[in-house]
Amino acid sequence: MATTKKDIRALTKEQLRDFFVKEGDKAFRGNQVYEWLWSKSAHTFDDMTNISKQTRQMLEDNFVINHIKVDTMQRSSDGTIKNAVKLHDGLVVESVLIPTETRTTACVSSQVGCSLDCKFCATARLKRMRNLNPDEIYDQVVAIDNESRLYHNRPLSNIVFMGMGEPLMNYNNVMKAIDKITSPEGLGMSPKRIVVSTSGVPKMIKKMADDEVKFNLAVSLHSAIDEVRTSIMPFNSTFPLVDLKESLEYWYAKTKRKITYEYVVWNGINDSKKDIDALVKFCKYVPCKVNIIEYNPIDDGEFQQATNQALDNYIIALERNRIVVNVRRSRGKDIDAACGQLANKS
Ligand code: SAH
Repeated sequence: MATTKKDIRALTKEQLRDFFVKEGDKAFRGNQVYEWLWSKSAHTFDDMTNISKQTRQMLEDNFVINHIKVDTMQRSSDGTIKNAVKLHDGLVVESVLIPTETRTTACVSSQVGCSLDCKFCATARLKRMRNLNPDEIYDQVVAIDNESRLYHNRPLSNIVFMGMGEPLMNYNNVMKAIDKITSPEGLGMSPKRIVVSTSGVPKMIKKMADDEVKFNLAVSLHSAIDEVRTSIMPFNSTFPLVDLKESLEYWYAKTKRKITYEYVVWNGINDSKKDIDALVKFCKYVPCKVNIIEYNPIDDGEFQQATNQALDNYIIALERNRIVVNVRRSRGKDIDAACGQLANKS
Protein backbone atom coordinates (compact mmCIF):
# COMPACT_ATOMS: atom_id res chain seq x y z
CA MET A 1 0.00 0.00 0.00
CA ALA A 2 1.38 3.40 -0.94
CA THR A 3 2.15 5.53 2.07
CA THR A 4 -0.05 8.55 2.63
CA LYS A 5 2.00 9.83 5.51
CA LYS A 6 2.86 13.51 5.29
CA ASP A 7 6.29 15.06 5.62
CA ILE A 8 5.97 16.57 9.09
CA ARG A 9 8.55 19.24 8.37
CA ALA A 10 6.38 20.68 5.61
CA LEU A 11 4.11 21.95 8.42
CA THR A 12 4.55 25.38 9.94
CA LYS A 13 4.65 25.72 13.71
CA GLU A 14 1.06 27.01 13.64
CA GLN A 15 -0.12 24.02 11.62
CA LEU A 16 1.61 21.67 14.03
CA ARG A 17 -0.03 23.38 17.00
CA ASP A 18 -3.44 23.13 15.28
CA PHE A 19 -2.83 19.47 14.58
CA PHE A 20 -2.32 18.72 18.26
CA VAL A 21 -5.38 20.70 19.26
CA LYS A 22 -7.46 18.70 16.77
CA GLU A 23 -6.04 15.52 18.28
CA GLY A 24 -7.35 16.67 21.66
CA ASP A 25 -3.88 17.54 22.96
CA LYS A 26 -2.41 20.90 23.94
CA ALA A 27 -1.15 23.38 21.32
CA PHE A 28 2.05 23.52 23.35
CA ARG A 29 2.83 19.94 22.27
CA GLY A 30 3.22 21.38 18.77
CA ASN A 31 5.96 23.69 20.05
CA GLN A 32 7.78 20.80 21.68
CA VAL A 33 7.66 18.67 18.54
CA TYR A 34 8.66 21.64 16.39
CA GLU A 35 11.72 22.14 18.55
CA TRP A 36 12.67 18.49 18.14
CA LEU A 37 12.22 18.69 14.37
CA TRP A 38 14.27 21.84 13.83
CA SER A 39 16.63 23.06 16.53
CA LYS A 40 17.26 19.52 17.83
CA SER A 41 17.18 17.99 14.35
CA ALA A 42 15.57 14.71 15.48
CA HIS A 43 15.87 11.89 12.95
CA THR A 44 13.02 9.79 14.37
CA PHE A 45 9.94 10.31 16.52
CA ASP A 46 11.52 8.02 19.08
CA ASP A 47 14.27 10.61 19.62
CA MET A 48 11.63 12.93 21.12
CA THR A 49 12.16 11.82 24.68
CA ASN A 50 9.92 14.38 26.42
CA ILE A 51 6.92 13.30 24.30
CA SER A 52 4.85 10.37 25.53
CA LYS A 53 5.20 7.01 23.84
CA GLN A 54 1.57 7.12 22.79
CA THR A 55 1.95 10.52 21.13
CA ARG A 56 5.13 9.43 19.38
CA GLN A 57 3.24 6.42 17.98
CA MET A 58 0.41 8.70 16.82
CA LEU A 59 2.96 10.89 15.01
CA GLU A 60 4.57 7.81 13.49
CA ASP A 61 1.15 6.72 12.16
CA ASN A 62 0.52 10.09 10.51
CA PHE A 63 3.87 11.50 9.44
CA VAL A 64 7.36 10.82 8.22
CA ILE A 65 10.59 12.70 8.92
CA ASN A 66 12.39 12.78 5.58
CA HIS A 67 15.81 13.29 7.04
CA ILE A 68 18.77 13.24 4.68
CA LYS A 69 21.39 10.58 5.15
CA VAL A 70 25.10 11.25 4.69
CA ASP A 71 25.85 8.31 2.45
CA THR A 72 29.57 8.79 2.00
CA MET A 73 31.95 11.33 3.47
CA GLN A 74 35.31 12.05 1.90
CA ARG A 75 38.09 14.04 3.55
CA SER A 76 40.61 15.96 1.49
CA SER A 77 44.25 16.36 2.47
CA ASP A 78 43.51 20.08 3.00
CA GLY A 79 40.73 19.38 5.55
CA THR A 80 37.85 19.89 3.10
CA ILE A 81 35.05 17.37 3.58
CA LYS A 82 32.57 16.33 0.91
CA ASN A 83 29.30 14.64 1.79
CA ALA A 84 27.27 12.65 -0.68
CA VAL A 85 23.81 13.07 0.75
CA LYS A 86 21.01 10.62 0.06
CA LEU A 87 17.50 12.02 -0.05
CA HIS A 88 14.35 10.14 0.96
CA ASP A 89 13.62 9.22 -2.67
CA GLY A 90 17.09 7.84 -3.26
CA LEU A 91 18.46 10.83 -5.21
CA VAL A 92 21.85 12.17 -4.20
CA VAL A 93 23.29 15.67 -3.83
CA GLU A 94 26.63 16.85 -2.50
CA SER A 95 27.65 19.38 0.11
CA VAL A 96 31.09 20.51 1.18
CA LEU A 97 32.76 21.77 4.35
CA ILE A 98 35.61 24.19 3.70
CA PRO A 99 37.79 25.01 6.71
CA THR A 100 40.21 27.96 6.77
CA GLU A 101 42.10 29.42 9.69
CA THR A 102 39.33 31.84 10.54
CA ARG A 103 36.13 30.18 9.40
CA THR A 104 34.38 26.97 8.43
CA THR A 105 32.08 27.32 5.50
CA ALA A 106 29.34 24.98 4.34
CA CYS A 107 28.75 24.88 0.61
CA VAL A 108 25.25 23.50 0.10
CA SER A 109 23.15 22.33 -2.83
CA SER A 110 19.74 23.73 -3.70
CA GLN A 111 18.65 21.39 -6.51
CA VAL A 112 19.31 17.83 -7.61
CA GLY A 113 21.32 18.54 -10.77
CA CYS A 114 20.89 21.90 -12.49
CA SER A 115 18.76 23.25 -15.31
CA LEU A 116 21.35 25.80 -16.41
CA ASP A 117 23.93 24.80 -18.92
CA CYS A 118 27.20 26.48 -17.98
CA LYS A 119 29.75 24.82 -20.23
CA PHE A 120 32.50 24.75 -17.60
CA CYS A 121 30.50 23.22 -14.75
CA ALA A 122 30.29 19.50 -13.97
CA THR A 123 26.86 19.83 -12.33
CA ALA A 124 25.42 21.15 -15.62
CA ARG A 125 25.93 17.68 -17.07
CA LEU A 126 23.45 16.23 -14.62
CA LYS A 127 19.89 16.79 -15.64
CA ARG A 128 17.84 18.80 -13.15
CA MET A 129 15.83 16.11 -11.37
CA ARG A 130 14.02 18.21 -8.78
CA ASN A 131 14.22 21.07 -6.33
CA LEU A 132 15.36 20.37 -2.80
CA ASN A 133 12.84 20.91 -0.03
CA PRO A 134 13.63 23.41 2.74
CA ASP A 135 14.31 20.61 5.22
CA GLU A 136 16.74 18.92 2.82
CA ILE A 137 18.74 22.14 2.54
CA TYR A 138 18.59 22.68 6.31
CA ASP A 139 19.76 19.11 6.98
CA GLN A 140 22.86 19.59 4.82
CA VAL A 141 23.82 22.53 7.01
CA VAL A 142 23.21 20.57 10.22
CA ALA A 143 25.31 17.65 8.94
CA ILE A 144 28.20 19.98 8.09
CA ASP A 145 27.90 21.80 11.41
CA ASN A 146 28.23 18.45 13.21
CA GLU A 147 31.27 17.52 11.13
CA SER A 148 32.82 20.92 11.75
CA ARG A 149 32.49 20.40 15.52
CA LEU A 150 33.78 16.85 15.28
CA TYR A 151 36.76 17.30 12.95
CA HIS A 152 37.64 20.97 13.42
CA ASN A 153 36.48 21.60 17.01
CA ARG A 154 34.36 24.59 16.11
CA PRO A 155 30.87 25.26 14.85
CA LEU A 156 30.10 26.19 11.30
CA SER A 157 30.60 29.92 10.72
CA ASN A 158 29.42 30.57 7.15
CA ILE A 159 27.15 29.14 4.47
CA VAL A 160 27.39 29.56 0.72
CA PHE A 161 24.74 28.40 -1.73
CA MET A 162 27.34 27.34 -4.26
CA GLY A 163 26.75 23.62 -4.41
CA MET A 164 24.61 21.91 -7.00
CA GLY A 165 21.79 23.84 -8.61
CA GLU A 166 20.67 27.40 -9.14
CA PRO A 167 19.22 28.71 -5.85
CA LEU A 168 17.08 31.36 -7.51
CA MET A 169 15.34 28.68 -9.57
CA ASN A 170 14.21 27.13 -6.28
CA TYR A 171 13.48 30.45 -4.64
CA ASN A 172 10.71 29.62 -2.17
CA ASN A 173 12.39 26.58 -0.71
CA VAL A 174 15.77 28.30 -0.42
CA MET A 175 14.13 31.22 1.40
CA LYS A 176 12.29 28.88 3.76
CA ALA A 177 15.53 27.02 4.50
CA ILE A 178 17.36 30.29 5.20
CA ASP A 179 14.50 31.36 7.50
CA LYS A 180 15.03 28.18 9.51
CA ILE A 181 18.81 28.47 9.48
CA THR A 182 18.68 32.03 10.79
CA SER A 183 15.76 31.63 13.17
CA PRO A 184 16.48 31.14 16.88
CA GLU A 185 14.11 28.16 16.57
CA GLY A 186 16.48 26.66 14.02
CA LEU A 187 20.24 27.24 14.01
CA GLY A 188 20.19 30.93 14.92
CA MET A 189 22.90 31.85 12.40
CA SER A 190 23.32 35.44 11.29
CA PRO A 191 22.15 36.07 7.70
CA LYS A 192 25.29 38.17 7.26
CA ARG A 193 27.19 34.88 7.22
CA ILE A 194 25.19 33.50 4.32
CA VAL A 195 25.88 34.03 0.62
CA VAL A 196 23.44 33.07 -2.10
CA SER A 197 25.26 32.64 -5.38
CA THR A 198 23.40 32.92 -8.65
CA SER A 199 24.17 32.76 -12.33
CA GLY A 200 21.95 35.82 -12.49
CA VAL A 201 18.17 35.55 -12.80
CA PRO A 202 17.20 39.24 -12.94
CA LYS A 203 13.56 38.84 -11.96
CA MET A 204 14.47 36.85 -8.87
CA ILE A 205 17.26 39.23 -7.87
CA LYS A 206 14.64 41.99 -7.80
CA LYS A 207 12.28 39.78 -5.85
CA MET A 208 14.95 39.14 -3.23
CA ALA A 209 15.44 42.88 -2.89
CA ASP A 210 11.67 43.37 -2.52
CA ASP A 211 11.57 40.61 0.08
CA GLU A 212 14.22 42.53 2.05
CA VAL A 213 16.48 39.55 2.51
CA LYS A 214 19.39 40.06 4.86
CA PHE A 215 21.96 37.72 3.39
CA ASN A 216 24.63 38.52 0.80
CA LEU A 217 24.48 38.12 -2.93
CA ALA A 218 27.13 36.72 -5.26
CA VAL A 219 26.77 36.63 -9.02
CA SER A 220 28.71 34.23 -11.22
CA LEU A 221 29.68 36.69 -13.90
CA HIS A 222 32.68 35.21 -15.77
CA SER A 223 32.28 37.72 -18.56
CA ALA A 224 30.84 41.20 -18.94
CA ILE A 225 30.51 40.84 -22.72
CA ASP A 226 27.22 39.30 -23.88
CA GLU A 227 28.62 37.21 -26.74
CA VAL A 228 31.35 35.74 -24.57
CA ARG A 229 29.03 35.12 -21.63
CA THR A 230 26.41 33.48 -23.85
CA SER A 231 29.04 31.18 -25.33
CA ILE A 232 29.98 29.82 -21.88
CA MET A 233 26.66 30.37 -20.05
CA PRO A 234 24.02 29.92 -22.78
CA PHE A 235 21.10 31.05 -20.57
CA ASN A 236 22.66 34.53 -20.84
CA SER A 237 20.82 34.84 -24.16
CA THR A 238 17.57 34.79 -22.16
CA PHE A 239 18.88 36.96 -19.31
CA PRO A 240 21.34 39.34 -21.01
CA LEU A 241 23.77 41.54 -19.11
CA VAL A 242 21.66 44.65 -19.51
CA ASP A 243 18.85 42.99 -17.51
CA LEU A 244 21.32 41.64 -14.98
CA LYS A 245 22.80 45.11 -14.53
CA GLU A 246 19.37 46.63 -14.01
CA SER A 247 18.42 44.02 -11.42
CA LEU A 248 21.69 44.57 -9.54
CA GLU A 249 21.12 48.32 -9.46
CA TYR A 250 17.68 47.61 -8.05
CA TRP A 251 19.18 45.24 -5.46
CA TYR A 252 21.73 47.81 -4.34
CA ALA A 253 19.23 50.66 -4.20
CA LYS A 254 17.03 48.60 -1.88
CA THR A 255 19.55 46.70 0.25
CA LYS A 256 22.66 48.90 0.19
CA ARG A 257 24.69 45.70 0.20
CA LYS A 258 27.70 45.18 -2.03
CA ILE A 259 27.62 42.44 -4.62
CA THR A 260 30.36 39.88 -5.12
CA TYR A 261 31.17 38.88 -8.68
CA GLU A 262 32.65 35.44 -9.14
CA TYR A 263 34.94 35.25 -12.07
CA VAL A 264 37.07 32.53 -13.64
CA VAL A 265 39.64 33.52 -16.24
CA TRP A 266 40.21 31.03 -19.06
CA ASN A 267 42.84 30.87 -21.76
CA GLY A 268 41.65 32.43 -24.99
CA ILE A 269 38.07 32.91 -23.71
CA ASN A 270 38.06 35.95 -21.44
CA ASP A 271 41.71 36.85 -20.95
CA SER A 272 42.04 39.80 -23.35
CA LYS A 273 42.18 43.51 -22.64
CA LYS A 274 38.67 43.87 -24.06
CA ASP A 275 37.38 41.38 -21.47
CA ILE A 276 39.14 43.20 -18.66
CA ASP A 277 37.85 46.60 -19.76
CA ALA A 278 34.30 45.23 -19.92
CA LEU A 279 34.56 43.86 -16.38
CA VAL A 280 35.94 47.12 -15.02
CA LYS A 281 33.05 48.96 -16.65
CA PHE A 282 30.49 46.48 -15.27
CA CYS A 283 31.98 46.84 -11.77
CA LYS A 284 31.22 50.55 -11.80
CA TYR A 285 27.46 50.08 -12.01
CA VAL A 286 27.02 49.08 -8.36
CA PRO A 287 29.42 48.78 -5.40
CA CYS A 288 30.99 45.36 -5.61
CA LYS A 289 34.05 43.22 -5.18
CA VAL A 290 35.47 40.57 -7.49
CA ASN A 291 36.48 37.06 -6.49
CA ILE A 292 38.72 35.52 -9.09
CA ILE A 293 38.22 31.77 -8.72
CA GLU A 294 40.71 29.20 -9.87
CA TYR A 295 39.32 26.97 -12.62
CA ASN A 296 38.71 23.39 -11.59
CA PRO A 297 39.05 21.29 -14.71
CA ILE A 298 36.18 18.97 -15.53
CA ASP A 299 37.45 16.11 -17.69
CA ASP A 300 37.55 17.58 -21.25
CA GLY A 301 40.21 20.09 -22.23
CA GLU A 302 37.93 22.76 -23.65
CA PHE A 303 38.54 25.17 -20.78
CA GLN A 304 41.94 25.95 -19.38
CA GLN A 305 42.91 28.14 -16.48
CA ALA A 306 44.46 31.36 -17.80
CA THR A 307 48.09 32.20 -17.16
CA ASN A 308 49.23 34.05 -14.04
CA GLN A 309 50.05 36.95 -16.32
CA ALA A 310 46.40 37.13 -17.44
CA LEU A 311 45.22 37.05 -13.83
CA ASP A 312 47.71 39.79 -12.94
CA ASN A 313 46.36 41.92 -15.78
CA TYR A 314 42.89 41.62 -14.31
CA ILE A 315 44.09 42.39 -10.79
CA ILE A 316 46.10 45.43 -11.85
CA ALA A 317 43.22 46.88 -13.89
CA LEU A 318 40.65 46.32 -11.12
CA GLU A 319 42.87 47.74 -8.40
CA ARG A 320 43.74 50.73 -10.51
CA ASN A 321 40.01 51.41 -10.61
CA ARG A 322 39.70 50.92 -6.84
CA ILE A 323 37.72 47.72 -7.16
CA VAL A 324 38.42 45.16 -4.45
CA VAL A 325 39.65 41.90 -5.92
CA ASN A 326 40.50 38.60 -4.20
CA VAL A 327 42.00 35.53 -5.73
CA ARG A 328 40.43 32.36 -4.36
CA ARG A 329 42.42 29.17 -4.38
CA SER A 330 40.48 25.97 -4.84
CA ARG A 331 39.95 23.61 -1.97
CA GLY A 332 39.27 19.90 -1.93
CA LYS A 333 40.29 19.29 -5.54
CA ASP A 334 41.63 15.80 -4.75
CA ILE A 335 38.11 14.67 -3.82
CA ASP A 336 36.26 16.55 -6.62
CA ALA A 337 34.79 18.92 -4.03
CA ALA A 338 35.87 22.21 -5.57
CA CYS A 339 33.54 24.71 -7.28
CA GLY A 340 31.90 23.24 -10.33
CA GLN A 341 33.18 19.73 -9.69
CA LEU A 342 30.11 18.43 -7.87
CA ALA A 343 28.73 15.68 -10.09
CA ASN A 344 27.92 12.75 -7.81
CA LYS A 345 31.02 10.89 -8.91
CA SER A 346 31.37 8.86 -5.74
N1 SAH B 1 24.19 28.23 -9.77
C1 SAH B 1 24.88 29.03 -8.82
C2 SAH B 1 25.60 28.27 -7.72
C3 SAH B 1 26.41 27.04 -8.13
S1 SAH B 1 27.94 27.29 -8.96
C4 SAH B 1 25.82 29.98 -9.52
O1 SAH B 1 25.97 29.87 -10.74
O2 SAH B 1 26.38 30.87 -8.88
C5 SAH B 1 29.03 27.96 -7.77
C6 SAH B 1 30.21 28.71 -8.39
O3 SAH B 1 31.16 27.81 -8.99
C7 SAH B 1 29.79 29.66 -9.49
O4 SAH B 1 30.47 30.87 -9.38
C8 SAH B 1 30.23 28.92 -10.73
O5 SAH B 1 30.38 29.77 -11.81
C9 SAH B 1 31.53 28.29 -10.26
N2 SAH B 1 32.00 27.20 -11.08
C10 SAH B 1 31.26 26.32 -11.79
N3 SAH B 1 32.07 25.44 -12.42
C11 SAH B 1 33.34 25.74 -12.07
C12 SAH B 1 34.62 25.17 -12.35
N4 SAH B 1 34.73 24.10 -13.12
N5 SAH B 1 35.71 25.76 -11.82
C13 SAH B 1 35.60 26.84 -11.01
N6 SAH B 1 34.41 27.41 -10.69
C14 SAH B 1 33.30 26.88 -11.22
